[in-house]
Amino acid sequence: MSDNNPCLTCGACCAHFRVSFYWGECQSAGGVVPDELVEQITPHHAAMRGTTSKPARCVSLLGEVGCGVRCTMYEQRSSPCREFEASWEYGEHNPRCDAARAAHGLPPLTPPLEPDMAPDRVA
Ligand code: SF4
Ligand code: SF4
Repeated sequence: MSDNNPCLTCGACCAHFRVSFYWGECQSAGGVVPDELVEQITPHHAAMRGTTSKPARCVSLLGEVGCGVRCTMYEQRSSPCREFEASWEYGEHNPRCDAARAAHGLPPLTPPLEPDMAPDRVA
């Protein structure tokens, strides 16, 4: 993750959604997600502790949402964490990113300006 990644000063999605995934991603089932950080929510699904009730906040989120945050198990995070992308990070809008940020009073991320739309190029 690069230093200018907006997620490093956000963390809203880790403190808004239920983060659930197939149980097979947990260490005891041969995956990488530490068992002690999850709770079983169905016979075949687990969720990150802290995200199954409101207000949600994943137990692995360190720091203050909207200021500076860090995932303490970044290399062992589950598939929904790996697949959730910040809006416009790869050119795609992610309305769920907007929704999580809005829930924490943060504005939506904006797409990068097109080169010929940059202020110094406007007549
Ligand atoms: S809500 Fe969006 S910007 Fe914030 S941490 Fe999640 S993906 Fe990143
Ligand atoms: S495991 Fe890490 S990336 Fe996933 S919700 Fe928790 S803090 Fe966020």
